[in-house]
Amino acid sequence: MSNTALTKPALTATHQPTLTAVAWVEKFAAALSSDTPTDAANLFEESGFWRDLIVFTWNIKTLEGRAAISDMIAATMDNTRPCHWQVEENATEADGVTDAWISFETGVARGRAYVRLRDGLAWTFLTTMTELKDYPEKRNKLRPKGAEHGANKNRQTWLEKRQHEEATLGYTEQPYCLIIGGGQGGIGLGARLRQLEVPTIIIDALPKPGDTWRNRYKSLSLHDPIWYDHMPYLPFPENWPVFTPKDKVGDWLEMYTKVMELNYWGSTRCTHAHYDEEKQEWTVEIDRDGEKLTLHPKQLILATGMSGIPNTPDIPGMDTFEGEQHHSSQHPGGEAFKDKKCIVLGGNNSAHDICCALWENDADVTMIQRSSTHIIKSDSLMELVLGGLYSEEAVESGMTTYKADLTFASVPFQIMPQFHIPAYQAVAERDAEFYQRLTDAGFLLDFGEDGSGLFMKYLRRGSGYYIDVGASDLVADGEIKLKSGVSIERIKPKSVVLTDGTELPADLIVYATGYGSMNGWAAKIISQEVADKVGKCWGMGSDTSKDPGPWEGELRNMWKPTHQDALWFHGGNLHQSRHYSQYLSLQIKARMEGIATPVYGMEPVHHLS
Ligand SMILES: Cc1cc2nc3c(=O)[nH]c(=O)nc-3n(C[C@H](O)[C@H](O)[C@H](O)COP(=O)(O)OP(=O)(O)OC[C@H]3O[C@@H](n4cnc5c(N)ncnc54)[C@H](O)[C@@H]3O)c2cc1C
Repeated sequence: MSNTALTKPALTATHQPTLTAVAWVEKFAAALSSDTPTDAANLFEESGFWRDLIVFTWNIKTLEGRAAISDMIAATMDNTRPCHWQVEENATEADGVTDAWISFETGVARGRAYVRLRDGLAWTFLTTMTELKDYPEKRNKLRPKGAEHGANKNRQTWLEKRQHEEATLGYTEQPYCLIIGGGQGGIGLGARLRQLEVPTIIIDALPKPGDTWRNRYKSLSLHDPIWYDHMPYLPFPENWPVFTPKDKVGDWLEMYTKVMELNYWGSTRCTHAHYDEEKQEWTVEIDRDGEKLTLHPKQLILATGMSGIPNTPDIPGMDTFEGEQHHSSQHPGGEAFKDKKCIVLGGNNSAHDICCALWENDADVTMIQRSSTHIIKSDSLMELVLGGLYSEEAVESGMTTYKADLTFASVPFQIMPQFHIPAYQAVAERDAEFYQRLTDAGFLLDFGEDGSGLFMKYLRRGSGYYIDVGASDLVADGEIKLKSGVSIERIKPKSVVLTDGTELPADLIVYATGYGSMNGWAAKIISQEVADKVGKCWGMGSDTSKDPGPWEGELRNMWKPTHQDALWFHGGNLHQSRHYSQYLSLQIKARMEGIATPVYGMEPVHHLS
């Protein structure tokens, strides 16, 4: 079974939720193919949502409300020509909401949709592209044969073909697509592009696939459980640990790169890229382990990491400090700091992990928490938040990674908080005593400005949380010392002075102060002008802390066209990289094949960084 397939039990003719869904789909399909397709907007609630992942808009776009939906239909229907709408399996009904999976086609693509109906009208509707009809991936029944039966004097083995490709691509033949950054994002996307037969090279400054993870602090394991973390096509085996240690992630990525036959150039740094508007191609200067090369790809993808450009604060006196100071991304681990006075500036994931590892190595650790943090115990996250979609129980009940990803994607960001708030209320109740202990220790705690917890904070600002795997107890017990609501005002040769006047002796300062916006990479690699032209990446304008408005409804610039032709941003956590690489790869493939891709509804740039 392909990973975009659903199980297809026959529909039950008398099943009321299914009848409701079928009735809606029939009316919707009829309206779209009528002379007045915008009538289909009336099948949505007045403030209903249509989230489209590239099928109608060639964009990642949520239309909010009937008027916006109607405008989109008017603008896109002629090019899209949707048809063959079909409810795929029995619908379900709970609390007055009917949910149904739907398949459909357009002139060029096949798609899958997911609708939530209330009183016969669509509350939310998701449409996603699964494949381009003329360019299906060669898998399952279409998989390559591998062996070449018969007799052939010019036979080339698989190995010879691979070696030929490696020797020519980037030298005598240009890649259509260049991915800068070979972390999990670049690698997963590279695998999808390989499947779609888009000639692609992935370059990374580090020697081997997986090195980004290997280079991170020693104690790191994935904070998300395995069910959330699979790479495209090749899920982790059944004996894989729930939380993958970072070096094991590294080894998996190295193996994955090899078996997925990716053209991966390690020890290769991009020094500069420039887009030629006339030729519609990039000129990219690279240094491949000392060899200077110029590539001319048509599409350039920055998969250079959201956690790539360290935010290190500029604090008076930093240059006078006689101890060691570094950003969390450069922190080697706790070993070298036994009996040392260690100051960790920050109160989020990395700060907690680093404090814990320092404590384990008998250092004297103080965490400086500048503002409040959302904390969720890992067990509670797994059981009360992720469990329904991503857990062994979910797998046992028939949930596939693909279906889980689509279900997750089907909730428009505007109303996602209302889906999450009850789960976090349950978490707060279940772990009330734990939270009380933390608060009693002076820790500044939050559940997000609207109580919507971890994932919304991640989407809005990419920071501000810790998934507790043990450090919180150390904070509550005073084993990790805490100074909260303050920052470092000044640094002296052997101490730090806090904004409340306290002076703390210091041998080590770790700045666990996060990372800058991904368009900073465009500034570094291309130009400040292009970085400003595309604007800030990530966040959606929720007008909450670190995510200034106006509301844009989708993450800025990620996996979709930007205001710079042929420039794309890819990344996110393992779940997002896996899921959204599907849409990014299809957008690239469509362009390579000359399929019309009129982009609907690009947001203007509101923020530069
Ligand atoms: C401490 C920490 C813990 C995390 N834990 C989790 C987790 O549990 N689960 C999860 O899903 N996510 C986690 N993440 C978030 C995210 O998944 C990772 O940051 C992940 O590494 C992102 O993958 P990426 O491919 O987008 O970027 P990266 O892995 O950062 O890869 C970017 C690559 O680009 C390369 N590069 C940059 N500039 C150039 C250039 N000019 N030329 C060539 N190469 C270049 C870099 O060498 C790097 O290898 C964590 C992040 C951090 C920092």
